[in-house]
Amino acid sequence: MPTEPEKHSSVNGRWQVVAFGALLVIVILFEIVLLPSSVQDLPYSQFKKLVQTGQVADLKIGATTIHGTLLDKTSATSPETPTSEKAERFTTTRVEDPGLVAELEASGIAFSGQADNSWIFNLLSWLAPLFILLLFWSAYFRRMGAGIGGGLMAAGKSRARVYVEHEIKVRFDDVAGLDEAKEELQEVIEFLRTPEKFRRLGGKVPKGVLLAGAPGTGKTLLAKAVAGEAGVPFFSLSGSEFVEMFVGVGAARVRDLFEQALQKAPCIVFIDELDALGKARGIGPAGGSHEEREQTLNQLLVEMDGFDPNTGVIIMAATNRPEILDPALLRAGRFDRHVVLDRPDVKGREAILRVHAKNVKLAAEVNLSVIAARTPGFVGADLANIVNEAALLAARKGRDEVLMADFDEAVDRVIAGLEKRNRVINPREKAIIAHHEIGHALTAELLPHVDPVRKVSIIPRGIAALGYTQQLPTEDRYLMTRSELEDRLRVLLGGRVAEEIIFGDVSTGAQDDLQKATDTARSMVTEYGMSTRLGLRTFEKERRGLFLDTPWATKKDYSEEKAAEIDKEVEDILERAHKQVRELLTTQKPLLEKLASLLLEKEVLEGDELRQIIHAVVAEDSTNKRATLH
Ligand code: ADP
Ligand code: ZN
Repeated sequence: MPTEPEKHSSVNGRWQVVAFGALLVIVILFEIVLLPSSVQDLPYSQFKKLVQTGQVADLKIGATTIHGTLLDKTSATSPETPTSEKAERFTTTRVEDPGLVAELEASGIAFSGQADNSWIFNLLSWLAPLFILLLFWSAYFRRMGAGIGGGLMAAGKSRARVYVEHEIKVRFDDVAGLDEAKEELQEVIEFLRTPEKFRRLGGKVPKGVLLAGAPGTGKTLLAKAVAGEAGVPFFSLSGSEFVEMFVGVGAARVRDLFEQALQKAPCIVFIDELDALGKARGIGPAGGSHEEREQTLNQLLVEMDGFDPNTGVIIMAATNRPEILDPALLRAGRFDRHVVLDRPDVKGREAILRVHAKNVKLAAEVNLSVIAARTPGFVGADLANIVNEAALLAARKGRDEVLMADFDEAVDRVIAGLEKRNRVINPREKAIIAHHEIGHALTAELLPHVDPVRKVSIIPRGIAALGYTQQLPTEDRYLMTRSELEDRLRVLLGGRVAEEIIFGDVSTGAQDDLQKATDTARSMVTEYGMSTRLGLRTFEKERRGLFLDTPWATKKDYSEEKAAEIDKEVEDILERAHKQVRELLTTQKPLLEKLASLLLEKEVLEGDELRQIIHAVVAEDSTNKRATLH
């Protein structure tokens, strides 16, 4: 959530205080424990004897104890040795002895009175542990954050953060695309604006609305826009913050929240990451924090059931994993309205880019629809990020207009993280990466059913990607044919095969490719009915559907023998694809090497450059062949 205030600095400060306090306590304890060991505790009678035999150097007389130093025998014979170093110190408990002062004066012992400080030590030894406990305790509570009252309240009152915003500026116009979702929420707005009128007209009053969608698809934004459109306060909290709390605190917190919300009604209560709180019972390991989660969840259910929907409180919750939610949450009278936020399609992406580019000065050449076409799969948050990044790049270059080139670079950055130009990669690794990437790119260009390559790069980006081959889908895809899936599989294997052919060895770099290839092959067999051997039947329950009754219990609906057959078929598909790519790239080995060395030199190849070279070589090849045939 973008509205969350920066809290890390205060947390760090707190821990520094704790560390300092702990250090202090250790030092004090050290003193208390270690000091007395070098000090002898003498009976008073022995002390008197020492005084009488003249073995005492000086004395400090307190109210209850006498501290003193013994004369060192050796210091008498060798005067250069400082007395204080070898002298032994002692203490003794005072007894009623009115003659002591006279006696000391008589034997010429230096003495002075001293306010007794042993009580300080006593007190400290009690207070220090208490103090350190207090520090830890307060640090812990601070860490869990401030609440409605700004962090001043006691334990039950405010642990996880609840934010209240009264004047929400976000409107539906700020939320691009998502037209269906907006339409579904229109009713909620109507209700919040004029609850009485809504009821009079016989509308069924909504209570809980669940927004389901991938992270960054605009769930929070949409919920806020509903509050903004209706002109009501917006309470928000995040489910994940409840999970770390003490047992009982979360439940108290929920109670509080509803109390506050009822006072401010009509209003919206928004619970982000509902899945953290409302995971179906039985998912995940059991443990203390889960008890807390369950208590909090139960309290939420109690509150939702308890309040009269006519009061005008609407609870909206967001989740990116609706399938793991406790079915109890989805029952009638709870979160029974479900709004699904899909990843935006190309038009939606363009609209989102437009919304965010409103406050940015774009050069005339900038075509947002081209950028939208280049970013399939991107969610609103990514697109907002691209516009921001492009504007920053333009500013850094001292321009006051954002150019298309800035957007290109921004897209690259958002895709693969920031460029790390100074990252050191040894030449052999670099060669492997170059051949691997060209393996993908060349396979893609030589096969008929794949998207053209947009760019191949071996500039390391982010932490994971050492290089990448980017393909440009010409349109958004909702359906894929079998030939397309097979070709995609081959492209995925192209990197690994290039390594085999050129280096006779393979690297770990293909891990992600192999994972994806395996997934694709498995889906072809078990979901899409594309295996001739196993036929049309599907082998797994559709798991992606929302709101199933027992979604976590994916029962296997086939026998062990079938499972073995599936595995065999998946392996066969992969093996076949591997063999085909191997043949393809072996015949094109010179081209592969040529392109790889060009990539090594330039580090980035645009799709057009790549295609020019490929077409030139392939054309030359075919004329040569014809020549030799004759
Ligand atoms: P979620 O809650 O689904 O994870 P957010 O609502 O927090 O996503 O979205 C993050 C940011 O992404 C928003 O603040 C907004 O800038 C941008 N964004 C996401 N979806 C859209 C959209 N449909 N229109 C405009 N901006 C969007
Ligand atoms: Zn690869």
